[in-house]
Amino acid sequence: MPFPRALVLGAAWLMAALASLAAAPASRPPNIIVVFCDDLGYADVGCFGASKIRTPNIDRLAKEGVRLTDFYAAQAVCSASRAALLTGCYPNRIGIAGALGPGARHGLNPDERTIAEVLKPRGYATGAVGKWHLGHHPMFLPTRHGFDEWLGLPYSNDMWPYHPEAKKGSYPELPLFDGETVVDPEVTPDDQKTLTTRYTERAVRFIERHRDQPFFLYLAHAMPHVPLFVSDARSGRSRAGLFGDVIGEIDWSVGQLLDALRRHKIDEHTLVIFTSDNGPWLSYGDHAGSAGPLREGKGTAWEGGVRVPFIARWPGRIPRDSVSHQPAMTIDLLPTLAAIAQAPLPPHRIDGLDIRPLLLKPAEATSPHDALWFYYNNNELQALRSGRWKLILPHAYRTLGSQTPATGGTPIKYSQLKAGTELYDLEKDPGEKTDLASLKPEIVAELQEHVEKARADLGDALTGRTPTGARPAGKLPSTP
Ligand code: MG
Repeated sequence: MPFPRALVLGAAWLMAALASLAAAPASRPPNIIVVFCDDLGYADVGCFGASKIRTPNIDRLAKEGVRLTDFYAAQAVCSASRAALLTGCYPNRIGIAGALGPGARHGLNPDERTIAEVLKPRGYATGAVGKWHLGHHPMFLPTRHGFDEWLGLPYSNDMWPYHPEAKKGSYPELPLFDGETVVDPEVTPDDQKTLTTRYTERAVRFIERHRDQPFFLYLAHAMPHVPLFVSDARSGRSRAGLFGDVIGEIDWSVGQLLDALRRHKIDEHTLVIFTSDNGPWLSYGDHAGSAGPLREGKGTAWEGGVRVPFIARWPGRIPRDSVSHQPAMTIDLLPTLAAIAQAPLPPHRIDGLDIRPLLLKPAEATSPHDALWFYYNNNELQALRSGRWKLILPHAYRTLGSQTPATGGTPIKYSQLKAGTELYDLEKDPGEKTDLASLKPEIVAELQEHVEKARADLGDALTGRTPTGARPAGKLPSTP
């Protein structure tokens, strides 16, 4: 007797449904928010040691998540640092160094893959809000690198005609973009006051619009990079002056994001990461942050330049109020987020490693890195960290020495000092005060093997080595 038609159709549907279930990923991937501050020092938030500056929302993020105390930016300068976070590569692997100015004719190579491009095939809505700084020509903008939308500045907020340090006529007017359209061609001081609020409102709207699908939000604040600006509503509130007000507004912003997640009941479905692109710009004195006990600041490979606060919160997945002292770096975010979203990695070589264990099991997990390399300044390999040890290689670095700190937003001049081959035990001596190189030559020799690996791969301007594993930056086609 033939099967009834309804039964046959029902069985066919069931088979098809089972097949699609097998093909579909196990579950909807989580939302991901990365808050990336600019020039925020290691000790500029309460949970990393700030004493005068109050950051209740950022501290709450840490209470409800994990702090990585030994987390690094890949280079202590804006563009290079951003390139590393978004691509999972050392910035010199992909040809991005320093801070790109308005005259730059290069940017992030279209062949590189950002976190947004990696997540997109898994159904993510992708939004960038804030500073980009990986090329301001259309072919380099966020909208060409996997982001559905972008509101923000193309480079640093001091690259404008009104900055006290700008030589007359050296910078064009600073534009504000929405997508690929300039919506404000001349950002004024009054406009700068509104940036943190405006970015936050846009970020919250993005969360609201995409609450029913996985989303990736990259919120790269302009602040606390100089020149400092805060909204009138949040001005004059901090005991730590204008800098404290600026951090207070970033803290308010974090609170707004957390409120939006709670309001839309997607708290437990959202991983929030908070970190910074490099340490404090110390020459700005009271307009700069603090690296706390760490040595030096932005623009150096000392801990104050490269070690940054890192917090990750994912209720139900990341243990509350936890901490890891294992070394990790911004290059690790791309592979980690790809693994979390079950998205394939880029087809080319990347440098970051999956640090899910550090986030999900911080009490027991160890760093996947044998060594982390600190390149700076025209591809100089200046330092590396392996486990508890940091090896400093001979190089010149900038320092303020014992000068009286600057006040009021006008910086003082750095002088240059020379470092030798120096060894520091970061577990006992995070301030890099006691050089152990002569006492522990066997450790220095061991670390030199990592140095050789780095030089063979990415080159080293200090010893005249040419990279073998580097890829070029994207370049504007030359005009005929
Ligand atoms: Mg910066």
